[in-house]
Amino acid sequence: MLRSFLHASKLVAGLFVLLTLSYSGPVRSQDTPTSWHLMLGNPSGATSNPTDANNYLMVKPQYALSYNNSKRIPNWVSWQLNRSWLGSVRRQNDFRLDPSLPQGWYRVDGRDDFGGYDRGHMIPSADRTRSLKDNSATFLMTNIIPQSRDNNQETWRLLEQYCRELVNQGHELYILSGGAGQKYAIGRGKITIPATTWKVILVLERPGLMVRDVTTQTRTIAVSVPNEQGVNPNWRSYLTSVDQVESLTGYDFFSNVPPHIQKVIEARIDGKPRPIAPGLRYRPTLLLIGVGIAATVIVGLIGYGLDRLQKRATSPKPQLPPKLKPAPEPTPIPPATSVPTPPSAPKPKGNTPTPPSRPAVRAIERIEENLQRRAEQAQTEASVDPKAAELDLELAILKLQLSDPKPSDRPSDKDVP
Ligand code: MN
Ligand code: MN
Repeated sequence: MLRSFLHASKLVAGLFVLLTLSYSGPVRSQDTPTSWHLMLGNPSGATSNPTDANNYLMVKPQYALSYNNSKRIPNWVSWQLNRSWLGSVRRQNDFRLDPSLPQGWYRVDGRDDFGGYDRGHMIPSADRTRSLKDNSATFLMTNIIPQSRDNNQETWRLLEQYCRELVNQGHELYILSGGAGQKYAIGRGKITIPATTWKVILVLERPGLMVRDVTTQTRTIAVSVPNEQGVNPNWRSYLTSVDQVESLTGYDFFSNVPPHIQKVIEARIDGKPRPIAPGLRYRPTLLLIGVGIAATVIVGLIGYGLDRLQKRATSPKPQLPPKLKPAPEPTPIPPATSVPTPPSAPKPKGNTPTPPSRPAVRAIERIEENLQRRAEQAQTEASVDPKAAELDLELAILKLQLSDPKPSDRPSDKDVP
């Protein structure tokens, strides 16, 4: 009973493992290309069938190529380049035949006559320095074409160096290189000397990016250099578009990239202004509108500021309303109201040391007027009114009281009853 249960559980576990493996299998094969060197495509549709002798696909760990058994040179060599391929291994220089060529085919070896042409690497030795095996693989003659010394040792070398500079900047490159046309064939192997050497490079921002990461903004570099002496060492003078190299060779580079993206990145010549993408066609218009709005706002602000400054300069006082100014004028009273307060303050018992108050002064004035009138009356009547003398006395007493208070009467004395 227990034994059969254990058997059953083992079966279930086995099935689970099998299902997991079968599930993860297809997903992986969709994501990862058969060879990194062919991630962006197989430009000539090469196959590993020996009957396809002039377009024979050879995939190596270090690079991939299409071999042409009639020309005895590769049609193209394709490789990925990033930091992981670079190390410190010395150049091996072991030019030799490629033993993986199909049986019965002529195998070019390192001693074959190249008619004074260099044995020119397609994937350079310096691009595979991680291990002896990797570096040595670049010396297989299936990676070599007859290349003019000036082309190989100057122009090509400098472009190869530039590619490694890009890699050291952190980029990952996909590079294809080959020869086009035919000058003549040489030696017992009838090795073709191409008329032109070409190279096509796709620059990715960083290692690990896939085909789906290639956009219309992805940089491509393409050159086509005459396979002659006296070529310009500056590879930039041979810049062209990927499209041009496609029509030169008849291949379709980056065929795994969506056609609408290929269309853009293959038409561009590196270093020249990029054509405006359809989505960005109205960008200059938007920029103009933006600049216009900004200019209007700035001019408006400056005008407003100037206006305010001018107003301040011409009328500095209007800050205070004119109504406030006459206010202090109708107050001749303040000196009177601020010093003593006779109307409200209760009259002290005796005499106060205060000067005569306003009502008192008026009373005196009134009495004086009265006296004046009486005096006039008296003069006209020629008689002296006894009441006038009385008033005179009253006035004298009042004046004395108001203007000459007694020094002994002080508020302090009254405060202490
Ligand atoms: Mn070289
Ligand atoms: Mn293409």
